[in-house]
Amino acid sequence: MATEAAAKKQAGKTRGHIEIRVDECKGCGCCVIVCPKQVLELSKELNKMGYHPCTYKGEGCIACGFCFYACPEPGAITVYTKEAGE
Ligand code: SF4
Ligand code: SF4
Repeated sequence: MATEAAAKKQAGKTRGHIEIRVDECKGCGCCVIVCPKQVLELSKELNKMGYHPCTYKGEGCIACGFCFYACPEPGAITVYTKEAGE
């Protein structure tokens, strides 16, 4: 019972995180659209190329990788999986 409760609690927690290389981003918004957890948004700031880059809201990523596969810019997004308890 305690294990089931712990598993449910863990399921609601962040299981991944991403890093965005801001100056590689072209601000197309593809990642924002495909993210099932809606944890990405386009920044109000401009990057050095003059685009509004994608930013991560800081929590809620489940490491599904959809943003990585949707992004047309190689190296702009890196997805990491967190181990339980990290
Ligand atoms: S890996 Fe999935 S949940 Fe995480 S930011 Fe990308 S699309 Fe969203
Ligand atoms: S899909 Fe890639 S290029 Fe487009 S906004 Fe997201 S990180 Fe930037």
